[in-house]
Amino acid sequence: MTEGAHVGVIVAVDGPAGSGKSSVSRAAAAARGFAFLDTGAAYRALAWRVLERGADPEDAAAVERALDGFRVESAEDPGERWVRVDGVDVTEEIRTPRVTAAVSGIARVAAVRRTLNEGFRARLAAAEPGIVAEGRDITTVVAPHADVRVLLTASPEVRASRRAKELPDESHHEVARSIAERDARDSRVVDFLEAADGVTTLDSTDLDFEGTVAALVALVRQVGLEPVA
Ligand code: C5P
Repeated sequence: MTEGAHVGVIVAVDGPAGSGKSSVSRAAAAARGFAFLDTGAAYRALAWRVLERGADPEDAAAVERALDGFRVESAEDPGERWVRVDGVDVTEEIRTPRVTAAVSGIARVAAVRRTLNEGFRARLAAAEPGIVAEGRDITTVVAPHADVRVLLTASPEVRASRRAKELPDESHHEVARSIAERDARDSRVVDFLEAADGVTTLDSTDLDFEGTVAALVALVRQVGLEPVA
Protein backbone atom coordinates (compact mmCIF):
# COMPACT_ATOMS: atom_id res chain seq x y z
CA MET A 1 0.00 0.00 0.00
CA THR A 2 1.46 3.40 -0.94
CA GLU A 3 1.61 6.16 1.64
CA GLY A 4 -1.82 7.75 2.04
CA ALA A 5 -3.67 4.95 0.18
CA HIS A 6 -7.04 4.37 1.79
CA VAL A 7 -10.48 3.07 1.01
CA GLY A 8 -12.66 5.67 2.75
CA VAL A 9 -12.75 9.43 3.25
CA ILE A 10 -10.18 10.66 5.78
CA VAL A 11 -10.94 13.79 7.77
CA ALA A 12 -8.00 15.08 9.82
CA VAL A 13 -8.65 17.59 12.62
CA ASP A 14 -5.89 19.15 14.74
CA GLY A 15 -6.03 21.77 17.43
CA PRO A 16 -4.88 22.86 20.88
CA ALA A 17 -6.27 21.72 24.25
CA GLY A 18 -9.83 22.84 24.87
CA SER A 19 -10.53 23.70 21.22
CA GLY A 20 -13.45 21.26 21.32
CA LYS A 21 -11.87 19.10 18.63
CA SER A 22 -12.82 15.86 20.31
CA SER A 23 -16.53 16.50 20.81
CA VAL A 24 -16.86 18.38 17.51
CA SER A 25 -15.04 15.65 15.56
CA ARG A 26 -17.10 12.94 17.23
CA ALA A 27 -20.37 14.70 16.34
CA ALA A 28 -19.26 15.34 12.74
CA ALA A 29 -18.31 11.66 12.39
CA ALA A 30 -21.75 10.61 13.68
CA ALA A 31 -23.46 13.02 11.28
CA ARG A 32 -21.64 11.48 8.30
CA GLY A 33 -21.81 7.85 9.45
CA PHE A 34 -18.00 7.80 9.78
CA ALA A 35 -15.73 6.16 12.34
CA PHE A 36 -13.97 8.31 14.94
CA LEU A 37 -10.38 8.23 16.18
CA ASP A 38 -9.23 10.26 19.21
CA THR A 39 -5.44 9.99 18.94
CA GLY A 40 -4.90 11.87 22.21
CA ALA A 41 -6.61 8.97 23.99
CA ALA A 42 -3.77 6.64 22.87
CA TYR A 43 -1.13 9.05 24.24
CA ARG A 44 -3.13 9.32 27.46
CA ALA A 45 -3.44 5.52 27.65
CA LEU A 46 0.33 5.12 27.40
CA ALA A 47 0.84 7.84 30.05
CA TRP A 48 -1.55 5.87 32.27
CA ARG A 49 0.51 2.70 31.72
CA VAL A 50 3.75 4.52 32.61
CA LEU A 51 2.20 5.83 35.85
CA GLU A 52 0.72 2.43 36.71
CA ARG A 53 4.23 0.99 36.59
CA GLY A 54 5.43 3.67 38.95
CA ALA A 55 7.76 4.99 36.22
CA ASP A 56 8.68 8.63 35.63
CA PRO A 57 6.92 10.06 32.52
CA GLU A 58 9.88 12.41 32.01
CA ASP A 59 12.28 9.45 31.77
CA ALA A 60 12.42 8.63 28.03
CA ALA A 61 14.01 5.20 28.56
CA ALA A 62 11.30 4.18 31.05
CA VAL A 63 8.62 5.45 28.65
CA GLU A 64 10.13 3.40 25.81
CA ARG A 65 10.04 0.33 28.02
CA ALA A 66 6.33 0.93 28.68
CA LEU A 67 5.76 0.82 24.90
CA ASP A 68 6.76 -2.83 24.92
CA GLY A 69 3.62 -4.92 24.44
CA PHE A 70 1.41 -1.83 24.78
CA ARG A 71 -1.97 -2.54 23.24
CA VAL A 72 -4.58 0.21 23.13
CA GLU A 73 -8.06 -0.11 21.68
CA SER A 74 -10.77 2.52 21.42
CA ALA A 75 -14.33 2.70 20.13
CA GLU A 76 -14.63 3.29 16.38
CA ASP A 77 -18.31 4.10 16.62
CA PRO A 78 -18.64 7.81 17.50
CA GLY A 79 -21.71 6.90 19.56
CA GLU A 80 -19.57 4.82 21.91
CA ARG A 81 -16.91 6.03 24.25
CA TRP A 82 -14.40 3.54 25.64
CA VAL A 83 -10.64 3.09 25.72
CA ARG A 84 -8.91 -0.12 26.83
CA VAL A 85 -5.30 -0.91 27.56
CA ASP A 86 -4.51 -4.61 27.49
CA GLY A 87 -8.21 -5.27 27.96
CA VAL A 88 -8.53 -2.95 31.01
CA ASP A 89 -11.09 -0.15 30.70
CA VAL A 90 -9.29 3.18 31.23
CA THR A 91 -11.93 5.49 29.74
CA GLU A 92 -12.30 7.64 32.87
CA GLU A 93 -8.81 7.14 34.31
CA ILE A 94 -7.07 8.71 31.31
CA ARG A 95 -8.96 12.01 31.81
CA THR A 96 -7.75 12.54 35.37
CA PRO A 97 -5.44 15.52 36.09
CA ARG A 98 -2.70 13.02 37.05
CA VAL A 99 -2.66 11.54 33.52
CA THR A 100 -3.18 14.92 31.84
CA ALA A 101 -0.09 16.26 33.63
CA ALA A 102 2.00 13.25 32.52
CA VAL A 103 0.98 12.99 28.88
CA SER A 104 3.13 15.76 27.31
CA GLY A 105 6.24 14.10 28.75
CA ILE A 106 5.60 10.79 27.05
CA ALA A 107 4.38 12.43 23.81
CA ARG A 108 7.80 13.96 23.12
CA VAL A 109 9.52 10.55 22.93
CA ALA A 110 10.18 9.84 19.22
CA ALA A 111 9.67 6.06 19.56
CA VAL A 112 6.25 6.69 21.10
CA ARG A 113 5.15 8.89 18.21
CA ARG A 114 6.46 6.42 15.64
CA THR A 115 4.71 3.44 17.22
CA LEU A 116 1.39 5.16 17.83
CA ASN A 117 1.37 6.68 14.34
CA GLU A 118 1.65 3.24 12.76
CA GLY A 119 -1.47 2.15 14.62
CA PHE A 120 -3.33 5.34 13.67
CA ARG A 121 -2.44 4.95 9.99
CA ALA A 122 -3.71 1.37 9.94
CA ARG A 123 -7.05 2.55 11.35
CA LEU A 124 -7.29 5.38 8.82
CA ALA A 125 -6.47 3.15 5.87
CA ALA A 126 -9.14 0.60 6.76
CA ALA A 127 -12.05 2.88 7.67
CA GLU A 128 -15.15 2.76 5.48
CA PRO A 129 -16.98 4.84 4.38
CA GLY A 130 -14.76 7.27 6.23
CA ILE A 131 -13.15 8.37 9.49
CA VAL A 132 -12.64 11.56 11.44
CA ALA A 133 -9.30 11.49 13.28
CA GLU A 134 -8.33 14.23 15.69
CA GLY A 135 -5.12 15.17 17.48
CA ARG A 136 -2.15 17.52 17.16
CA ASP A 137 -0.31 16.24 14.09
CA ILE A 138 -2.95 14.44 12.02
CA THR A 139 -3.04 17.08 9.25
CA THR A 140 0.75 17.27 9.08
CA VAL A 141 2.39 13.97 10.08
CA VAL A 142 -0.13 11.15 10.46
CA ALA A 143 -2.27 11.89 7.40
CA PRO A 144 -0.93 14.81 5.35
CA HIS A 145 -2.83 13.35 2.37
CA ALA A 146 -6.19 13.34 4.16
CA ASP A 147 -9.18 14.35 2.02
CA VAL A 148 -10.17 17.07 4.51
CA ARG A 149 -7.61 18.82 6.75
CA VAL A 150 -8.81 21.20 9.43
CA LEU A 151 -7.18 23.16 12.25
CA LEU A 152 -9.81 23.84 14.89
CA THR A 153 -8.92 26.83 17.04
CA ALA A 154 -10.51 29.15 19.58
CA SER A 155 -9.16 32.01 21.67
CA PRO A 156 -7.31 30.95 24.86
CA GLU A 157 -10.05 32.52 27.03
CA VAL A 158 -12.84 30.61 25.29
CA ARG A 159 -10.88 27.35 25.43
CA ALA A 160 -10.24 27.77 29.15
CA SER A 161 -13.89 28.47 29.95
CA ARG A 162 -15.09 25.50 27.87
CA ARG A 163 -12.67 23.17 29.62
CA ALA A 164 -13.51 24.65 33.06
CA LYS A 165 -17.14 23.67 32.51
CA GLU A 166 -16.03 20.05 32.00
CA LEU A 167 -13.88 20.15 35.17
CA PRO A 168 -16.13 21.64 37.88
CA ASP A 169 -13.65 20.75 40.66
CA GLU A 170 -10.93 22.99 39.26
CA SER A 171 -10.89 26.80 39.27
CA HIS A 172 -11.01 28.69 35.99
CA HIS A 173 -7.57 30.08 36.74
CA GLU A 174 -6.14 26.60 37.34
CA VAL A 175 -7.66 25.25 34.09
CA ALA A 176 -6.36 28.20 32.06
CA ARG A 177 -2.87 27.73 33.50
CA SER A 178 -2.86 23.98 32.81
CA ILE A 179 -4.05 24.44 29.21
CA ALA A 180 -1.41 27.11 28.52
CA GLU A 181 1.32 24.94 30.02
CA ARG A 182 0.31 21.84 28.03
CA ASP A 183 0.05 23.81 24.77
CA ALA A 184 3.50 25.29 25.36
CA ARG A 185 5.05 21.86 25.95
CA ASP A 186 3.15 20.13 23.12
CA SER A 187 3.92 22.83 20.57
CA ARG A 188 7.64 22.19 21.04
CA VAL A 189 7.03 18.75 19.54
CA VAL A 190 4.45 19.47 16.82
CA ASP A 191 3.11 22.75 15.49
CA PHE A 192 -0.66 22.79 15.88
CA LEU A 193 -1.05 26.50 16.52
CA GLU A 194 -0.59 27.54 12.87
CA ALA A 195 -2.34 25.85 9.95
CA ALA A 196 0.05 24.07 7.57
CA ASP A 197 -0.26 24.63 3.80
CA GLY A 198 -3.59 23.34 2.50
CA VAL A 199 -5.13 23.10 5.99
CA THR A 200 -8.37 25.01 6.59
CA THR A 201 -8.58 26.95 9.86
CA LEU A 202 -11.93 26.70 11.62
CA ASP A 203 -12.08 29.30 14.41
CA SER A 204 -14.82 28.40 16.86
CA THR A 205 -14.34 31.38 19.20
CA ASP A 206 -17.68 32.90 18.17
CA LEU A 207 -19.48 29.67 17.28
CA ASP A 208 -21.51 27.45 19.57
CA PHE A 209 -21.09 23.67 19.54
CA GLU A 210 -23.76 23.02 16.88
CA GLY A 211 -22.40 25.81 14.70
CA THR A 212 -18.90 24.37 14.87
CA VAL A 213 -20.09 20.86 14.03
CA ALA A 214 -22.12 22.23 11.09
CA ALA A 215 -19.06 24.09 9.78
CA LEU A 216 -16.94 20.93 9.94
CA VAL A 217 -19.65 18.79 8.33
CA ALA A 218 -19.91 21.38 5.54
CA LEU A 219 -16.18 21.02 4.86
CA VAL A 220 -16.53 17.24 4.76
CA ARG A 221 -19.50 17.46 2.36
CA GLN A 222 -17.34 19.26 -0.16
CA VAL A 223 -15.40 16.04 -0.63
CA GLY A 224 -16.88 14.15 -3.52
CA LEU A 225 -18.38 17.30 -5.01
CA GLU A 226 -14.99 18.44 -6.19
CA PRO A 227 -12.19 16.23 -7.43
CA VAL A 228 -9.57 15.87 -4.71
CA ALA A 229 -6.05 16.30 -6.01
O1 C5P B 1 -6.22 15.73 22.72
P1 C5P B 1 -5.80 15.39 24.12
O2 C5P B 1 -5.81 16.57 25.06
O3 C5P B 1 -6.52 14.23 24.71
O4 C5P B 1 -4.28 14.94 23.96
C1 C5P B 1 -3.52 14.54 25.08
C2 C5P B 1 -2.03 14.75 24.79
O5 C5P B 1 -1.58 13.80 23.85
C3 C5P B 1 -1.64 16.10 24.23
O6 C5P B 1 -1.45 17.06 25.26
C4 C5P B 1 -0.33 15.77 23.52
O7 C5P B 1 0.75 15.75 24.43
C5 C5P B 1 -0.55 14.35 23.04
N1 C5P B 1 -0.95 14.23 21.64
C6 C5P B 1 0.03 14.30 20.67
N2 C5P B 1 -0.28 14.11 19.35
C7 C5P B 1 -1.55 13.82 19.00
C8 C5P B 1 -2.57 13.77 19.98
C9 C5P B 1 -2.24 13.99 21.29
O8 C5P B 1 1.20 14.57 20.99
N3 C5P B 1 -1.83 13.58 17.71
